Amino acid sequence: MVSKVIPVDDFDLVIFGGTGDLARRKILPGLFRRFIAGQMPSTSRIIGAARSDIDSDGFRDLVKDAIAEFGGPDLQDKDELPAFLAQLEYVAIDAKGDAGWPELAGLVRKQLVNAFYFSVAPSLFGDLAKRLHQHDITDATSRIVVEKPFGRDLETAKALNATLSDFFDEGQIYRIDHYLGKETVQNLMAVRFGNVLFEPLWNAKYIDHIQITVAETVGVGGRGTYYDRSGAMRDMVQNHLMQLLCLIAMEPPSQFEPDAVRDEKLKVIRALQPVEPHQMVRGQYDASDETPSYRDDAENPRSHTESFVALKTHIANFRWAGVPFYLRTGKRMTTRASEIAVVFKPIAHSIFGPVEDGNNVLAIQLQPNEGITLDVTIKEPGPGGMRLVNVPLDMTFAEALGPEAEAPEAYERLIMDVIRGNQTLFMRGDEVEAAWEWTDPLIAGWEARNDVPKPYDTGSMGPLDAHALMHRDNRQWREVKG
Ligand code: NAD
Repeated sequence: MVSKVIPVDDFDLVIFGGTGDLARRKILPGLFRRFIAGQMPSTSRIIGAARSDIDSDGFRDLVKDAIAEFGGPDLQDKDELPAFLAQLEYVAIDAKGDAGWPELAGLVRKQLVNAFYFSVAPSLFGDLAKRLHQHDITDATSRIVVEKPFGRDLETAKALNATLSDFFDEGQIYRIDHYLGKETVQNLMAVRFGNVLFEPLWNAKYIDHIQITVAETVGVGGRGTYYDRSGAMRDMVQNHLMQLLCLIAMEPPSQFEPDAVRDEKLKVIRALQPVEPHQMVRGQYDASDETPSYRDDAENPRSHTESFVALKTHIANFRWAGVPFYLRTGKRMTTRASEIAVVFKPIAHSIFGPVEDGNNVLAIQLQPNEGITLDVTIKEPGPGGMRLVNVPLDMTFAEALGPEAEAPEAYERLIMDVIRGNQTLFMRGDEVEAAWEWTDPLIAGWEARNDVPKPYDTGSMGPLDAHALMHRDNRQWREVKG
């Protein structure tokens, strides 16, 4: 099967912060991949706009280097590179002053789709929005893309939403969560809503519990002092894990249309139950022989910020009554792996006697490799009676669809959705606020209790208490594979 590249309308895409880490690592290599795939019209342009005092040729050199460094093997030594670079422009700009804005106004063609990626610190979002408006660069059809973090609590998120809404309608604002751009996350919706098999079982009657794990092996390293003001709850749970939970738990939307999907996600967040202190474990990684401790990385010997969090929550509605959702995420863990696991209940009566670990599990792996497996119980092949084994069925269909069906990476897919004007995979303002509404009291609670995170070994899966959180319920965390 050959994957189809759906053309997009001619566009001007401005990347504020076009010389920054995120742009060089993800956005620009991703756009080059779309260019090679033939999705970028030959008269479209990508305009870098940042503080660096370089010209368009300097920017092209920077992008060339970024593709060489971060582009991966598929982007090296490509004949298409000069043509891609020729579609790049650059304007040196100051978000907080007037420098560069008239030049940008002269470059952006309003008659085309125009989009503005705010790949800068969130403290500059308001300045950018205001100056885009003041210099008459945007109109009612323009789109802005904003990066995480979207606020650090409900109050700051509301303030940010209010600032952006002074200049842009909700339909113009694309709050990016790159987890939603992953192929398997969308496949999760296809599996759930495109098959007759799963949806009838997708409820408290048949599902025992859900686990969501996002494990990283890196520490907070170079951004330790920044991270120390945030922590795992704000940095990962409030956005990425919450979004994954929403897609697993939401009711089927009446159609696959942006607000229909986002309405259902919002209902899930609003039905999330508060988490009691005994249902939550916070941790901080210790030093290993080779790597520093969290507190050394954060340059804060008395830090109470968590680099790991595990928690158990419930969704108070008919579908999920009594089904626990276990979430965990952390740095310096055993392996880099993200997985959502839907663990079904054991069969009501086993005619084969007790079957060890016989639960059906639908596991959605998000990284490092994307894939979906379904653990099913079958007879172990060979003579010797009915011995049962649990084996994973690979539902990724990579072989059936062939190498041509290779998925675009999350960022490039999401940017193309912006150009198409499709907000389905972006967070709406009320969703973000509702997520903070759930998170804020948890953070306030441990601050009031002066809760000290539990130390855990670098290379482990978090503090022992995180395992106890499961064991108390006669369950255990799945071993996630990196
Ligand atoms: P960075 O510090 O590497 O780059 C910042 C960019 O902003 C530079 O291009 C700089 O020139 C520009 N800039 C700074 N001040 C400016 C001003 N006054 N006027 C105009 N331009 C200015 O930052 P980054 O790591 O690329 O992060 C950008 C955004 O993306 C942040 O909101 C960050 O939280 C978010 N983010 C980054 C990553 C990542 O992997 N780096 C991941 C997720 C989210």
